[in-house]
Amino acid sequence: MKEFFTVKYGEVPLLGVIAFGIIDRGTNLIQVRPQSGCPLCCIYCSVDEGSCSRTRMTVYRVEKEYLVDVVKEVVRFKGADDIEIHIDGTGEPFLYDKIDGLIGDLREIEGVKVISAQTSGFTISKKMVPKLEEAGLSRVNLSINSLDQNLAKKMAGIKSYNIDKILVIAEEIAESQIDLLIAPVWVPKVNDAEIPKLIEYAIKIGAGKNWPPLGIQKYIAHKRGRKVKGVKPMSWFKFYRKLASLEKIYGVKLILGREDFNIHRTKRKIPVVFKKLEKVKVKIVGPGWIKGEKIGISRGRAVTVVNCKAEAGETVRVRILSNKDGIYLAEPA
Ligand code: SF4
Repeated sequence: MKEFFTVKYGEVPLLGVIAFGIIDRGTNLIQVRPQSGCPLCCIYCSVDEGSCSRTRMTVYRVEKEYLVDVVKEVVRFKGADDIEIHIDGTGEPFLYDKIDGLIGDLREIEGVKVISAQTSGFTISKKMVPKLEEAGLSRVNLSINSLDQNLAKKMAGIKSYNIDKILVIAEEIAESQIDLLIAPVWVPKVNDAEIPKLIEYAIKIGAGKNWPPLGIQKYIAHKRGRKVKGVKPMSWFKFYRKLASLEKIYGVKLILGREDFNIHRTKRKIPVVFKKLEKVKVKIVGPGWIKGEKIGISRGRAVTVVNCKAEAGETVRVRILSNKDGIYLAEPA
């Protein structure tokens, strides 16, 4: 059974952890994560999310006003006038009940030029699309792995997945002002035959109005993710060779880089406040995303503490294990 944790205004910093809040990796793209958790159970899930997960214990939800105010501060700090807000997460961000309101509020922030979001489409209804359009959503990265009902269901890992419903949403988006990018995960021996069909489908329905129509992703067997039985991931060399060959056949760009999305480094990046191996005291404020983890706070950042038995309200001394891009992992010192 998962625990639900609401991140209330000002109570937990929104910088520092992977499962909710804001991540600044030093470019004009800021990742915004309003909610974790996922209704699907994809066989390849890199973060082992969904109801079938045996490792992800907590679903986080951030209060909208809090999230918007902190995004505002981050955008102001970065000082760029072409910020892309990318709403993503370690799960399905469209589970967030205030998603259109959130998009509308983010759209009002000076300096925000593009708002994109990633989704499986599973929780989007047809009548939601005009609301998202009106709110100012620029692009949806929609993960569709197969046009075949049985295979799509198998890859999504749940019986109630219906690809026909997702395709209705895809077409509704493609016909709106919102751009559509179809983002399948290519799992060798599982959906090889579907990739050309998905390319044809994306072109046919008019995906890629302002950005590329497809963002094909390579299946990677992540250490802490779900692995597809009997499947050896493709090498990067083979993956790009196959994409290059499909590019020639379909005349569409499939090997993508930052420049395809106008992503570039910014002069300012949110400062990293803890050094690696530094020892620091953190106050435990809530459960971690994974079994055995807790969320601690210090110096205006949230820190994930692994192997932590302390309860909320206790202070523990921890050693910082990693600080990459301002995402902090620590263990009791
Ligand atoms: S939609 Fe994404 S987060 Fe959800 S189970 Fe599939 S891969 Fe994992």
